[in-house]
This record gives sequence, C-alpha cells and structure tokens, in this order.
Amino acid sequence: MKRTGRSMLGLVGAFTMSLGLLGGASVLDPAPAAADSCYTWGETLSQGDSGSDVRRLQVRVAGWAAYGDPVNIDGVYGPETANAVERFQSGYGLTVDGIAGPETYGQIYDLQDADCTPAHFAYSEFTSGDGSGFSGGNTSTSNVRTNVLRNMWKLEAMRHKLGDSPLYVSSGFRSVSYNDAVGGAPNSKHTYGQAADLTGAHSLCDLARAARSSGFNGIIGPGAAGHNDHTHLDTRSGRYWNAPNCF
Ligand SMILES: [Zn+2]
Repeated sequence: MKRTGRSMLGLVGAFTMSLGLLGGASVLDPAPAAADSCYTWGETLSQGDSGSDVRRLQVRVAGWAAYGDPVNIDGVYGPETANAVERFQSGYGLTVDGIAGPETYGQIYDLQDADCTPAHFAYSEFTSGDGSGFSGGNTSTSNVRTNVLRNMWKLEAMRHKLGDSPLYVSSGFRSVSYNDAVGGAPNSKHTYGQAADLTGAHSLCDLARAARSSGFNGIIGPGAAGHNDHTHLDTRSGRYWNAPNCF
C-alpha cells in the first residue's frame, strides 16, 4: 500500500512539474500572477546578478538612492542597487530584504503604465516648449526618451517621499533653439532630456532638499541666479548643487 501511495504521489508530482514547465514558471522563482504590459520580470534578482533585467530594475529604483550618491544604471546588482531596493521596499511598506522578488515587482507593476512611465508622470510633460517634441536636441530623440524616462522614475520616488503631492514640470526637454530662446545655459542638460524644472505643492527648497537623495547630481534652486521661481534638477556625472537659500 505504501509503495502504491508513493508511486501515486510521484505521478502527481511529475504532472505538476510538467504543468509548471508548460506555464513557463520556475520552481524557485514563482512568476507573478499577472503579466505587466510594460515589462514582466521572470525571476528574482539579488546581489551578484547582472543584465538588462537588472538595468530595468535600476531605472525604477534610482530615485531611492543614498544621499548624494546616484544609483549607476549599469546592469550590475551591487550593494548600491540592493540598498536602493531596500529603500524602495521600505518606502512602500514591503518586506525589506534588498532582493527584487514578486512583492517588489508587484509594487513596480502597480506604479508603471503600459508605456513604462511611472504612474504620476507622462512623456507629454517633458516635451520641448516650442512644440518640437523630443527632437532638435543635443542627442537623438531615442536617447532623449531614455533620459526622460529615467528622470521620471526619480521624480516618482521624490513625489512619494514628499507625501504624494503633485510635482509640476515647468520645463523638461528643450530643443537647442528653444533652449537658446529661453536663455538656457549652452549645452544645458535640458537639451539632452536629462533635466527637469519643478514647481508644485512643496516649497522650492523642499524640492531641492529631497532631490539630494533621489539620484540627482545637478540641483539648482533658490538663491542661485535665475532659479528663484523653480528648482532645476538634472542627471549629470559630477555633483553640482547650488541652492544657497536652502542648504
Ligand atoms: Zn532647468
């Protein structure tokens, strides 16, 4: 009887496994219940992993950076990425373990729209003020879109940290000619889609302060020439923070 019982269990086990394989699921890393229309991660990611799925994750947690230390979007899941994932998890009340699994992905799916933009920002908020969309800048339209998307995710994190009140983008990408027309700095990060000028429900200094741990190396705000009616944030390689009325 016992032998028969085991044999039956064995059959059931094999049947379950083959169903799992047919469904494309992995035994170790259960797939999320529903596919996401932007991107669905197929496996748990943690320190030591690398690749394009890590890069996609980094884009989405980059706003949860350490103070003054932006997350490198390099496709390598190191301690910096793990720490950002932990802050993301903490910020949304999830289990904090620095590992990107179904719960973390589920939160990302809740936040991202079908075009991969975060819930509270859209490409249309970042197009050039002269009607040229994302063209006419100092880099390709495709690079501009990539840069804008990355900044949007940083802003989504900032927005959540600031209590979910709206942030308004008064200027995002600028074509070179529009940048010249509005008196922007030559070679401004706006002409790459890497900058956003903000106003909103918060004080300009609160925006500037929050940006310091949201992955922005470029912060220009109150007290800096021409920046008393908005806070400028950008993604650049070295730190330039200039908001003397704030910090
Ligand atoms: Zn600006």
